[in-house]
Amino acid sequence: MIKRTPLAAAIVLATLLSAPMARASERKGEGRARAAGKAPATQPAGAGLTFLAWSDQHVKTDGDGKHLEAPIDAMNKLAGTAWPEAIGGEVAKPAFVFGAGDITDWPTHASMRTYDALITKRLKIPAYDIAGNHDSGGKVVSATIHKWLIARHGALTYTFDAGGVRFLALHSMFDPDGKPAQPLTAESLARLRTQLAGTPKGMPVVLVTHLSFVSATNVGELVEAFGESNVILWMGGHFHKAAVGKHKRFNFIQLPSPKSEFPEVTVVRITPDRLVAIPWDYTRKAWTTDRRKILDARIRGPKPAAATRPAI
Ligand SMILES: [Zn+2]
Repeated sequence: MIKRTPLAAAIVLATLLSAPMARASERKGEGRARAAGKAPATQPAGAGLTFLAWSDQHVKTDGDGKHLEAPIDAMNKLAGTAWPEAIGGEVAKPAFVFGAGDITDWPTHASMRTYDALITKRLKIPAYDIAGNHDSGGKVVSATIHKWLIARHGALTYTFDAGGVRFLALHSMFDPDGKPAQPLTAESLARLRTQLAGTPKGMPVVLVTHLSFVSATNVGELVEAFGESNVILWMGGHFHKAAVGKHKRFNFIQLPSPKSEFPEVTVVRITPDRLVAIPWDYTRKAWTTDRRKILDARIRGPKPAAATRPAI
């Protein structure tokens, strides 16, 4: 459990008071993250923002989520791990873990209860998630995971700010009659445009959808929706394997799944001019060396906190 300290409560309050998206959150289907006690942890100035990301956890319908214990235990221990030499230093305390959907094989109450217990008790880091196609139920629709997400984060599409970066969790309904690779819906792109229009000019944005740059078939349309926004990263899942891509000036990553043959979670660090995302193999206890999975990019990141000037 995450202990609520007066400082954490103050951060939650400050987050609520400074909500520039408050108006947007009143619109149907959109929200500002509101998970009690889940305000991203503060990190030392200058260290940037570090968070972890994974996808496609696929808790079984009978509630069996044993395969998530090893990655969760690994995530709890990642702080302090030395980054690869090319980056240097140590992994800072992760502010949160982001899951890009397909939490369950199919949204039963048993699988929801297992995942909830895993990320609120076993995992010692705040967690954010979005729904994947499996979580919606496919051809046999079930609202169990959708309701759980809405209870935790206010809506299926929601935003929150951490370390000067806006995180935008964008829900797009999957067509169960379509192919595994299919377009993000027109509705979700319209919602993205609205959210970006309400984001302060130049503010770095990290977009999260379940479909990734490999599995979404309308990447061009999505990038068009980015417009002049400072989208520094788009993260998705769905195809169970870490990968890195780029379109125009935009950086993309596909997140690994603990259900795959690659036992990895991705560690992301955002500093004022650099974004690094590298999968950590929790079985070998080593960083991947596969360059197709590593992102190391120059960005227009969050501005460093202004130096305090002595009063004259
Ligand atoms: Zn999926």
